[in-house]
Amino acid sequence: MPSDCIFCRIIEGSLPSSIVYEDEIALAFMDIMPINPGHVLVVPKKHFRELSEMDEGTGAHLFCVAMRVERALRASGLQCDGTNLLQNNGPDAWQEVMHVHLHVIPRFRGDEVKVHFGQKEASRAHLDSWAGKIKTSMEQ
Ligand code: 5GP
Ligand code: ZN
Repeated sequence: MPSDCIFCRIIEGSLPSSIVYEDEIALAFMDIMPINPGHVLVVPKKHFRELSEMDEGTGAHLFCVAMRVERALRASGLQCDGTNLLQNNGPDAWQEVMHVHLHVIPRFRGDEVKVHFGQKEASRAHLDSWAGKIKTSMEQ
């Protein structure tokens, strides 16, 4: 466990957290700077820096826990109107804490949350070319 990892310190109990769920593999706790009230982080108890380092079994379990948190959030009385699940990998993709985590973010009609993705339509030639590269890489 890297001693400078905030989430490892939360997992071992040396930093305080507000826990909503725990099992042998995963911990779910409140984000200290919530995007909206009820923002939860789901993390593996084992330290993985990014998704690509993590085994599929742990990943599947984290997603199941996030689904349970999401369902609980909707039934919790916080009265959210929707949710976003967000998972960032790498500093260039908004990851600030280098221990894999899945955000479960409650959304409220008319809330002030804004993200600008800047999407642009791509040509079929580009889509086919990118698909081919990824497909080949998946087969290796
Ligand atoms: P990232 O940008 O890496 O996907 O998100 C990291 C999240 O961790 C942020 O939303 C941030 O508010 C949260 N965070 C950072 N430090 C702490 C902490 O000490 N405790 C808790 N509960 N959340 C933290
Ligand atoms: Zn860690």
